[in-house]
Formats: sequence, structure tokens, C-alpha cells
Amino acid sequence: MGKYTLRCAGCGNVLSDTITSCPMDGGLPRADYLKRRFNPRELPGIWSFIDWLPVDGWNPGTGASSVTYKSSGLADELGLNNLYISFSGYWPERGAQMRTCSFKELEAAPTMQMLLESGVKEILVVASAGNTARAFAEVCSITGQPVILFVPTQSLDRLWTTIEPGRVLVVGVDGDYADAIKLAGVLSSRTGFRPEGGARNIARRDGMGTVLLDHVRRFGSLPDHYFQAIGSGTGGIAVWEASMRLIGDGRFGCTPTRLHLAQNIPCAPVHAMWIGLSPEEMNFDAHGCPEGMHDDVLFNRNPPYAVPGGVRDAVISSSGRIYGIDNARAASAQKLFEGREGIDILPAAAVAVAALIEAVGSGAVGRDDEILLNITGGGVKRLAEDHSRIRLECDIRVDVEDSANVLSSIEEMIYA
Ligand SMILES: [Zn+2]
Repeated sequence: MGKYTLRCAGCGNVLSDTITSCPMDGGLPRADYLKRRFNPRELPGIWSFIDWLPVDGWNPGTGASSVTYKSSGLADELGLNNLYISFSGYWPERGAQMRTCSFKELEAAPTMQMLLESGVKEILVVASAGNTARAFAEVCSITGQPVILFVPTQSLDRLWTTIEPGRVLVVGVDGDYADAIKLAGVLSSRTGFRPEGGARNIARRDGMGTVLLDHVRRFGSLPDHYFQAIGSGTGGIAVWEASMRLIGDGRFGCTPTRLHLAQNIPCAPVHAMWIGLSPEEMNFDAHGCPEGMHDDVLFNRNPPYAVPGGVRDAVISSSGRIYGIDNARAASAQKLFEGREGIDILPAAAVAVAALIEAVGSGAVGRDDEILLNITGGGVKRLAEDHSRIRLECDIRVDVEDSANVLSSIEEMIYA
């Protein structure tokens, strides 16, 4: 008997391990862990939460966790008495050792471990606007597993590792993130390849859920509020699921942490769905975001929004909300955070900071409430002081219109 049962997050039916979507209602698969008690182990990084990760073993070279600390600088500025910051990135003075400087590393490590344990000899295929690809490149270079990354050519400069790159094939897509997803989907449906799974990948979600687990381990209680900038919203779903597991433990009350999720408007599909805009009213065209967005990684045209167990369920059942943050507010939030907390952060994280500022202003959070702010990426400048970065070169460049030819040449390269 395994450590968990895979169930549909909508109807609760038991699903087989290989399934990614409930045949009854399309709901997300969710791991229902046998162990109900929150009991972190003496293991490195996120592996200390292994009871609630869908893996049996761990690779000690991977799995750096987020760090959680109580804020004084930003907290004073905003008049908050219980503001906690979850930092995913590189900031050794705080104990943060995520060299990819993005919380996508929380997803990559358990995903690769789960794939290893499955015993299936398939090559993982990942589409990414940058941060996810970087995380998988680093983790796979440590574990030695092969991976194929589909990345829009304009995002290729975000691809680097801090160790010698391993069996990483970089496919530069002349198009946007949606085109990269499309092409990756075509390749991963072929024999010998495997899609990474996005929001439907339980290892990815439960890896991100460790952000909340780390907070509770250090400070002993479920926060009242949780702030995060989202692309697809998978991180929000992950934290909602982690809060339900903690409630199931019995020692942390029965109120799920309220989700405050944020996107950078106008290029904000999840926010647009939340406020009920029709597709025609959404202010982004078929080819993605307008130029000059403060953040351009928070864009996913097909987010797991209305699916059972998806973003809408997570936000509504936690009495949360979704914020739309414009460039000017994101930029000033970034400046404020970096000045008061003393670390550089990625643009996406600034969108979450701006949402917190809005919530303080509107009274949606109280000054004594326990608040967890997820800084999903940062420390790139800090990393440069300690480590050199190895730029990943583009191995193949793909035109979306010419996908068939390119996909066969990728197969030839791999099996040559
Ligand atoms: Zn179902």
C-alpha cells in the first residue's frame, strides 16, 4: 500500500496513478496522504515534509526550501504586527539557498524524484516562460536526468544553471509562452516523452505547498492571510490544499488560510475571469501580453481556473480574492520591499507586495492578523556576488508553423 491515495479534487473518486484528469468531472488529481499528523522530519530542505510529498526517497543535492521570517522593515512601513515573509531565492544571510532564485525549484525537485521512482524511462518535457525551465535545468543537472525545455526565444536569457549543465535540451520557440506550451504538448504526446503536467502534477503542487508548511513549522499556526502573485494559480491551489491538510491534523484550527492572489494587469487572465470579463473584454491579444509589463512570466492563457479543485474553488472556499495590479503599483511595491527588507526580488514577487499594500489600504487585512507574504523569487543580484552563472544555449530553434519537421529532428537528436 502506498503512502497516499490519488483522488479527484472534485468528486473524490479514487483515480489511478497514471491519470491526470478525473474522467467524471475533469477534476484535478489530489494526493490523499495516509499520515494526517503534521510531523516534519530531520531531513534537508523540503524533504523534511516528505510525509506530504508524493515520493518515498529524496536527493540531498536538491530540494532547497523557502525560508520564512518575521518582517520588521516592510511590516513597520505598513503598520502590520504579524507579517511573515516566505522567501524563495538566494539570500544566505537568511538561510535561503535556492540558486535558481525562484520558487519553481520547489516544484522541480519532487517532480524529478517522483519520475525517478516511477521507473518509467521517459524524457520529461517542460514548457516555460523562464523560471520553471531554469528550475528544471538546475535540478536535472544535479540529478543527471534528461529534460527537454521549450522556452520562448525572448525568454532564453533567463536560462542559466549554477553548475555544469547536464542532459538539458533547450528548444527556443519563436512565439510566446502559449506557443511553447503547444509545441511541448505535441512532443510529449509521443512515445518516450512525458509532459510535466502543470497544475495536474501533484508533485509540483505539493512541492509548492511546503511554503505554508515551513511557516507552520517555524511559527506554529496557520496564517490568516496568504499573498502570492500567480501565473496559472497553481501555487494558490497548492497552499489551499496544504492548509486543508493542516486543518485535518486537528491542532491548527478549522479556518483555511485566506488566499489573496494577484496578477499584473492588463495581462491577467485569472484576474479577468475572477471579475467576470468575457474573452472579448480581456485586454490581451492572441499573441500574449503587450510590451512593457512589469512582470511577463505571470501569463498563462489556459489556467486551471474553473476545473474542480482549481483556482476558483481554492479562492472561494478560502474566502479569498484575486487582485489586478498595474505596472506603476508593482514598480513602487518592488522599490519599497527592496528598500525595507534589503534583498532584490523578481518582478512577479513585487505584484504580490502590491496586493498586500492594497489589502492593508482597504482594510481587508487587520494590523494584528497573521499574514504570510510569498516572495516567489529573488536574490539574483545577491547570487551574482557568490556564484557564477552558466548561460544555457539554445540547441534548436523552432518556428511554430513548422513544428512537425522540428519535432522529428528533436527525436533524431535524442535517439542518435
Ligand atoms: Zn471527479
